[in-house]
Amino acid sequence: MTHIELKHLSKQYDDTDEIAVKDVSIDIPSGLIVSLLGPSGSGKTTTLKMLAGLITPSSGRIFFGKNDVTNIPAEKRQASMVFQSYQLYPNMTVAQNVGFGLKMRKFKKKEIRKRVGEILDLVHLDGFSERRPSKLSGGQQQRVALARALVNDPEVLLLDEPLSSLDAHLRVEMRRLIMNIQRELGVTTVFVTHDQNEAVLMADRIALMFDGSLHQYSEPSKFYSHPNSLETAKFFGSVNFIPAHREEDKLLVTPMGQLLMEAKSPLRGDVLFTMRPEQIELGVQMPHNTATGIIQSMTFVGAYLSYRIIIGDIPIEVHRSAGLPQNFKVGQSLPVYFPPDYIWILPESGHVSSG
Ligand code: ADP
Ligand code: MG
Repeated sequence: MTHIELKHLSKQYDDTDEIAVKDVSIDIPSGLIVSLLGPSGSGKTTTLKMLAGLITPSSGRIFFGKNDVTNIPAEKRQASMVFQSYQLYPNMTVAQNVGFGLKMRKFKKKEIRKRVGEILDLVHLDGFSERRPSKLSGGQQQRVALARALVNDPEVLLLDEPLSSLDAHLRVEMRRLIMNIQRELGVTTVFVTHDQNEAVLMADRIALMFDGSLHQYSEPSKFYSHPNSLETAKFFGSVNFIPAHREEDKLLVTPMGQLLMEAKSPLRGDVLFTMRPEQIELGVQMPHNTATGIIQSMTFVGAYLSYRIIIGDIPIEVHRSAGLPQNFKVGQSLPVYFPPDYIWILPESGHVSSG
């Protein structure tokens, strides 16, 4: 088990003007599973490869526990990486693929056979040891790649988009397998994904990156309740963003009227009001935080109904569980309540650094 620290890590590839990773600092307590999340090209794989020792940072440091590993080569790092494309050796059997690293490290044949057998059990591939990769399904190849990483008994496990090339059914199975193994071995794990649901389901903490910069690093629920930038909020499915002015600690002036808010945020002055569509209440009249709106449209979205409501000339989206009785009709005027506990504010641009 290893505590990992990335300190002000940056990477600019040779012969490029762009900086692929910009001043990223992440602290990963021992034994946790952390997701590097972000859209394509945001610097996730580059960050993971720096952790693995496959790419040298342009600046910044990486620590595994107390050891500065920034300049330690990959093979001496106690970190194993599973690549997005698996990269299995096609001419070797499953057992040979998994045991290759041990063979290189001059382990005895008997020891290799024993450890390979144990690891193949762990990834549910017992019985497949003599097959070649071309005779395996995508999910099985993925598990061979995972076994090959685990057989070295790494302190740090690095996975690049481990589920992206699997179909939905296999993805659920593989997700469970990875989580169970991670917990069982207690290996500090970092995995890359562009899928926010996947990150939320699997990770203890998420590091969200845009354009090479880390926007927010926190536990998954915080990305819904306390996003620290407009991009973060949008990435996690928020839709209501309204220019507002924070007059006092607990008072927000908005086009829907003055609203009381409870949120702790360092932001002052011009901000963006936001509230998730499922937290706004319809047909509830309170002495405060209540505006009058008109239902403009209603859309059935499977598990919930999405209402578009106009307050003055401000459109707001509100979701109601489709399982609840619905007494609202298009064209109807009704009170709309914004509970103070769920009001959140965002900077107009950039991100708040204390996430
Ligand atoms: P992600 O994994 O989030 O999709 P990457 O880390 O692969 O992002 O890429 C981040 C940025 O670095 C992108 O702009 C990409 O084009 C660039 N990049 C990645 N690998 C290289 C490379 N070997 N040489 C030059 N630029 C690269
Ligand atoms: Mg990538």
